[in-house]
Amino acid sequence: MIDLHTHTNKSDGTDSPRELVNKAIVQGLTVLGITDHDTTSSWQEATDSLRGNLTLALGSEISCLTEDGMSVHMLGLLFDGEHKQMQVMLEETRDGRLPRMRKMVEKMQAAGIDISMADVEAARPDGATLGRPHLADALVNKGVITSREEAFQGMLNNDSEFYVSHAAPTPAQAIAMIRSAGGVAVIAHPFASHRGQILKASDFQDLVRAGLNGIEVDHRDQNPEERAMLRSIATELDLVITGSSDYHGSGKVNLLAEFQTSPGQWEKLESLADKRRVVRA
Ligand code: AMP
Ligand code: ZN
Ligand code: FE
Ligand code: FE
Repeated sequence: MIDLHTHTNKSDGTDSPRELVNKAIVQGLTVLGITDHDTTSSWQEATDSLRGNLTLALGSEISCLTEDGMSVHMLGLLFDGEHKQMQVMLEETRDGRLPRMRKMVEKMQAAGIDISMADVEAARPDGATLGRPHLADALVNKGVITSREEAFQGMLNNDSEFYVSHAAPTPAQAIAMIRSAGGVAVIAHPFASHRGQILKASDFQDLVRAGLNGIEVDHRDQNPEERAMLRSIATELDLVITGSSDYHGSGKVNLLAEFQTSPGQWEKLESLADKRRVVRA
């Protein structure tokens, strides 16, 4: 069982890296990708917790913005965590998430909602990349709403009046950085249409030119037609096809390994990194 896209409490998941690794071992996964938003801060604890037959594919889900302002998520896997420019890029994005959150909170306050930055900070685990799910948790704690799910169906949705984007690299810039750090780039849930605007089929060629290695096809936010379309794009462009859970602990309904990547596709993806970078016990 290979699941290449999961989150811990170093971003907006709820399990610690140790808990996530333990769950993966108990469930019998063979490869676990850990991809916290815009950070590699889960890598050390995950590595220290590793035992048995589990292999780790460490990475990050990099927030991107296209030139016309569309949000895209790029999975970087198997890159060098010490790569200076990569770390600068990730840090700049994390820094940009703070003023963005302030703006969202201000918009809510202007609409008469009882919420403050202190409430959001109280809901964010130590050292976690700040995100909308922490604002959702703060709103739940305040009794404004009852769940993250409710938040994302309404006031925290990309189409909501309260939504604000944050500074981020373009998808091509993120891909180039991942590749120059020796890793592989897989675009996450590119046709997840319920989140808002999605890529056009023709956009993938540009990303391949930038160095894209794979497409996340099997993901709960893409319906069967969307998956079929992505599968044919991936086949046409000779890209690796992945499937993954996007597990967030109790922060989302997604179950660990609910979608998986085939061993053959994983082998192909791993071979595209500049060297053998998987972590084994
Ligand atoms: P942000 O990175 O701050 O823009 O927040 C986006 C994050 O919110 C994504 O990583 C998603 O995992 C999370 N998210 C999106 N929809 C939902 C949902 N329905 N329930 C819980 N979390 C969600
Ligand atoms: Zn997330
Ligand atoms: Fe994502
Ligand atoms: Fe994710």
